[in-house]
Amino acid sequence: MTNQSRKQRVFSGVQPTGNLTLGNYIGALSQWVLHQEENETIFCVVDLHTLTIPESISPEERKKKIREVVGLYLACGIDPQKAVIFIQSHMKQHTELAWLLTCVTPLGWLERMTQFKSKAKKQESVGSGLLMYPVLQAADILLYETDLVPVGEDQKQHIELACDIAQRFNHLFGETFRLPKAVIPKQGARIMGFDDPTTKMSKSIAQEKVGHAVGLLDNEKTIKKTIMSAVTDSKLEFSIEGASPGVLNLLTVYEVLTQTSRSEAVERFSGKGYGHLKKDVFEAVMATLKPIQQKYHAYNKDPGFIESIVVSGASKITPLATKIMNNALKATGMGQ
Ligand code: ATP
Ligand code: MG
Repeated sequence: MTNQSRKQRVFSGVQPTGNLTLGNYIGALSQWVLHQEENETIFCVVDLHTLTIPESISPEERKKKIREVVGLYLACGIDPQKAVIFIQSHMKQHTELAWLLTCVTPLGWLERMTQFKSKAKKQESVGSGLLMYPVLQAADILLYETDLVPVGEDQKQHIELACDIAQRFNHLFGETFRLPKAVIPKQGARIMGFDDPTTKMSKSIAQEKVGHAVGLLDNEKTIKKTIMSAVTDSKLEFSIEGASPGVLNLLTVYEVLTQTSRSEAVERFSGKGYGHLKKDVFEAVMATLKPIQQKYHAYNKDPGFIESIVVSGASKITPLATKIMNNALKATGMGQ
């Protein structure tokens, strides 16, 4: 289904599971901001997803984190005059649609998801929500007739699944859902942990491991320590030939944040010790995060403002969610 008469609609979200990281900024938030000028943009705080590992965060902490993420959306440049910002649990249609989609999703599709496999491995007991979470994510996306989903590389498989689920529903019940497409940045789509460059930087891992990630709200001292202790290799100086994953990760962060090409960056660091690269990465990170932190703290002084943004976001988006939900129910022969 295409509709030439309207702008491309962009939808994306972050789970309020911990402190947003540099990976979330580079792979997602900084990309979202670019879509605001040309496209219709909808950004959601996907709080229902935090229940997939229910004990990972307390109700009080969850409530706080949800508002913190909204504040960070604003501080990173999401403009509520241009984009709709809302909280997933304020819209009952997400869980309602998730049920319809659950019923058309073969179990094997979910069991194949690499993120399920890696997150399940870490749990003593795996909740069914962890398995079902990509279906709720599909509902989040399909509910708004989304065209484009800007995400980091780790989410590619889930967006493809959302597309498969939409196609299966359309096949069974007639054309109902628009098919979404993931938009993955060319550079910085998978920032790795500074403590372990074989693991994707994740805010949930950062809750447990010091030195894993730079948090967007970390103080200067902590950021310096994290970057200066980043894992590299035993070579004495930078060389792009045979550069290890840790060195390439630092180089990527530098390139993305300073908008430097690979050849320029290689020329800058070649033959110098890793301390030089780390110092420049630290400076680039601070130059990016300082203004974000200042804006965040200014917004945070006015919780009423944050609340008004999400209340108005939910009311703006309700007619669309209601329409698509009703279409889906009607297609199955249900609803009013
Ligand atoms: P969690 O550990 O709770 O899964 P997360 O850091 O993976 O947290 P999500 O809320 O799952 O964050 O994802 C939010 C967005 O950030 C998604 O678009 C995801 O692809 C992107 N993202 C997450 N981590 C990275 C990363 N290391 N590099 C680039 N993009 C990332
Ligand atoms: Mg994640």
